[in-house]
Amino acid sequence: MVEARGIHKFFGDLHVLRGVDLVVPRGSVSVVVGPSGSGKSTLLRCINQLEEISAGRIYVDGELMGYRERERNGTVELQELHPSVVARQRSSIGMVFQRFNLFPHMTALANVMEAPVHVRGLSKAAARESARALLDRVGLADRADHYPAQLSGGQQQRVAIARALAMEPELMLFDEPTSALDPELVGEVLGVMQDLAASGMTMVVVTHEIGFAREVGDHLVFMDEGVIVESGPPREVLENPREPRTVEFLSKVL
Ligand code: ADP
Ligand code: MG
Repeated sequence: MVEARGIHKFFGDLHVLRGVDLVVPRGSVSVVVGPSGSGKSTLLRCINQLEEISAGRIYVDGELMGYRERERNGTVELQELHPSVVARQRSSIGMVFQRFNLFPHMTALANVMEAPVHVRGLSKAAARESARALLDRVGLADRADHYPAQLSGGQQQRVAIARALAMEPELMLFDEPTSALDPELVGEVLGVMQDLAASGMTMVVVTHEIGFAREVGDHLVFMDEGVIVESGPPREVLENPREPRTVEFLSKVL
């Protein structure tokens, strides 16, 4: 579903991603862990084209993201895609951030309906029906008419997940979705994510929740200083880390 090859990303002189290769099979869950500043968020943002990569190729569902390859004088050149094509590519990827980013002046239901109506052109009636089903799926059927300020952080984050799902993504990216939550609210969000994984969604999850990585992850990726230091089945990496940097990181979070 995702194939990232040789990804580099510079912010000015700062070399943030230094040759990242990541393969995420369809229907699998990859959990990305690593110290703050190691490039985890940047990697997710590159996958969904919130950031332009400096080198490499990212394929999602077999499609090269952001560019078209063109052969010219015997060499392959990359040509930027039209913004409307990029927008179409991006619409197959849902993203959930640490901060819930709901529209504060809209109810939970209206938040979930917004993109289907304004981006996908669904009728309001159809969008409302599917938004209700999605709120039900994240356990918030009875909160449809509440505004974000009337919801707990965990409920807001579940609305954010429902809102991302409303675009019917093929791939969901989560960037520390529970890091801003009070501890007692973490479980309800992880539970929704676990259900989503069980339903077959392809997911890349940046999180410090090692229990989630172990129970739900198919693949654990440890990043440090812009590279993937080590990756493999979660239990294997957690119980038998091979790289000293992984050992050191795990000793801090476990
Ligand atoms: P992580 O999510 O692992 O904590 P990030 O991907 O957010 O790491 O950041 C990696 C590095 O890139 C950090 O040094 C950060 O300061 C830098 N960085 C991230 N975004 C930007 C940006 N828009 N401009 C400049 N530097 C950035
Ligand atoms: Mg981050």
